[in-house]
Amino acid sequence: MYIEVILPVPLADTFTYSVPAELEAQIVRGGLVEVPFGKNKNYYGIVASIGEKSSVDAAAIKPIVDIPVIAGVPCNPLVDTRQLQFWDWLSGYYLCRQGEVFKAALPPAFIEKGILHTFRRKGIARNALTPHTPSLPPLHTLNDLQQQAFLEIKACLQEKNVCLLHGVTSSGKTEIYTHLIRETLDAGRQVLYLLPEIALTTQITGRLRQFFGERLGVYHSQINHHERKDIWEGIGNYELRITKQRSAVANYEIVLGARSAVFLPFQNLGLVIVDEEHEPSYKQQDPAPRYHARNAAIMLASMHGAKVVLGSATPSVESFYNAQTGKYGYVRLEKRFEDTELPRIIPVDVKELRRTRQMKSIFSPMLQNAMQAALDRGEQVLLFQNRRGFAPVMTCKICDWVPKCRFCDISLTYHKQSNRLKCHYCGHAYTLPTQCPECGGELGFVGYGTEKVEEEIRALFPTTTVERMDTDTTSTKKAFEDIIARLESGQTQILIGTQMISKGLDFDKVGLVGILNADALMNHPDFRAYERAYQLMSQVSGRAGRRKEQGEVILQTSHLDHALIQSVLQQNYTEMYTTQMQERELFRYPPLFRLIHITLKHRLDDTVRDLAEAFAVQLREKLGDRVLGPDKPAVAKIQNLYLRQIVLKVENKVSMTVLREIVEGIQANLWAQKEFRYAVVQFDVDPV
Ligand code: ADP
Ligand code: ZN
Ligand code: ZN
Repeated sequence: MYIEVILPVPLADTFTYSVPAELEAQIVRGGLVEVPFGKNKNYYGIVASIGEKSSVDAAAIKPIVDIPVIAGVPCNPLVDTRQLQFWDWLSGYYLCRQGEVFKAALPPAFIEKGILHTFRRKGIARNALTPHTPSLPPLHTLNDLQQQAFLEIKACLQEKNVCLLHGVTSSGKTEIYTHLIRETLDAGRQVLYLLPEIALTTQITGRLRQFFGERLGVYHSQINHHERKDIWEGIGNYELRITKQRSAVANYEIVLGARSAVFLPFQNLGLVIVDEEHEPSYKQQDPAPRYHARNAAIMLASMHGAKVVLGSATPSVESFYNAQTGKYGYVRLEKRFEDTELPRIIPVDVKELRRTRQMKSIFSPMLQNAMQAALDRGEQVLLFQNRRGFAPVMTCKICDWVPKCRFCDISLTYHKQSNRLKCHYCGHAYTLPTQCPECGGELGFVGYGTEKVEEEIRALFPTTTVERMDTDTTSTKKAFEDIIARLESGQTQILIGTQMISKGLDFDKVGLVGILNADALMNHPDFRAYERAYQLMSQVSGRAGRRKEQGEVILQTSHLDHALIQSVLQQNYTEMYTTQMQERELFRYPPLFRLIHITLKHRLDDTVRDLAEAFAVQLREKLGDRVLGPDKPAVAKIQNLYLRQIVLKVENKVSMTVLREIVEGIQANLWAQKEFRYAVVQFDVDPV
């Protein structure tokens, strides 16, 4: 007997091994085997397939070493057929190895030798979960508009697998989800509730616990190993055997989680909710698999025959397009719960104020007055500046020299608290130069970040309690929660933050939101910059006046006439969408075309240049003008490796299998050349 085994290494999808006759009876698909790998290593791997023959030269095939056994029972299978099918799809679509999916799917400690021994799948699969007992407390009664939306969602899910719920902030989307969840549990099926950010789980967990109690499990990369096992066990029907005594098996029916929750061993998934579906943090950046959790969840759901609800106040252009073309259902909720007015957005023309010398700080007089008035009324203020640090860039006042990271070729950001320059790519910190190393000139700063905003606010409002929320102040989940708690309790009067404050949080007493620099948001060199800027500004505006009173937003910009600023001011999503779609069609961007970024890395700049040239030439032979580049990416050196990027823009209908064959063929060919042997290649399909 021969088996194909998935190993946690990125070299190939599977590796062939033979099975000694005495172990054959215990081999199952999805089961765990211990195999020799390389010179003197043993790995745990997963059996992907079983056969009697192998195309590989028999002499080169090694036998497996063992089948991990605990208490006399082999821990088989560890993953089921549906999970294997999901892994297979992920690696195929996102152009990575199954072993990379394996590593992402199983929590790190599970793969290490020994710890996996604590897991074993029960022989019998549960067909359906026990229907919920009537002991669960009643849900909130939906208002008329919510009830209508709820029925519309159900009706559209009769025909379609995915429904987009486009509801303004505070319209009660979360309340509608709870009703959909309850019905799914009543039908004896499991629910996956995805959030884009670990930090958001706490607030939603609190809200869901009151209705679903202990049936709710929380899963993300920051929970501890014991909690992870608990969730795998409760969702996947495993028995936990750390010691002889068996712990009580939790019967989780709902998992609230960040993107890695798509890898849980669901037995009977009925519903997936993707909240804040537009958030880019659903995309995994590094390492591979670089998957989009929303899209992966839609695929997972279809494998289970489950339905998907995507929720957002500012849908991604992709999802809205899918709704427009009828691929997804679409339900709109235009009114806030309790009919509170959407916030009033007041623009401030910063260019004009500068011209007339009225802009004395980073706050316009209008914003400063509005802040004072809000504080006087006992309301809280949010200030949004999507850059951390003090002043982002240091430059020479004479020759424009800019300090850059030695390893990453990216300009450094000044952090006042530590009085150092930091690279936001690799985290490396540098001491401040006292003068320009090029010309000896005096150094100054351009632009500003949240730290600078905080300093100026403290000077302007010395008796007010001020806090800052960005990745520097929220390195732990606890720190994040504490900032939120102090805002909720009213202790904090002004909160300054990056895009972290724009995400799905629900506050009571925020009367005013200030958007300090709308232009900086729009200036990113990325085809999604305007979409993102629209989403961020609407989302952060939505934090104002969520209960009863209408909130106020002051938006500072130097481009008052810009079409995007106008869409934001009028809260006109459709206009933004229409303009964006015209651009995307013109320049062949998603959702009309599929993008794939190929990044090549090497220690030597010349080598990576030659490799990229050769790669692009061979790609063009097959794909013609769908191939762009190679180019130096914006950051052309990261952690001592030089980079080149090739971009593929392909029609959506082009099969990923065909593309994969082309790309892998060229890759094999080039890597066989001695000089390219140590080069690294990365694929990013549907980059965000
Ligand atoms: P969204 O998810 O659309 O931003 P939420 O579901 O968070 O909106 O609702 C905003 C606020 O209004 C929450 O505090 C929520 O508890 C409350 N709310 C919304 N709908 C209802 C309802 N039907 N009954 C009671 N409270 C509701
Ligand atoms: Zn200089
Ligand atoms: Zn760096």
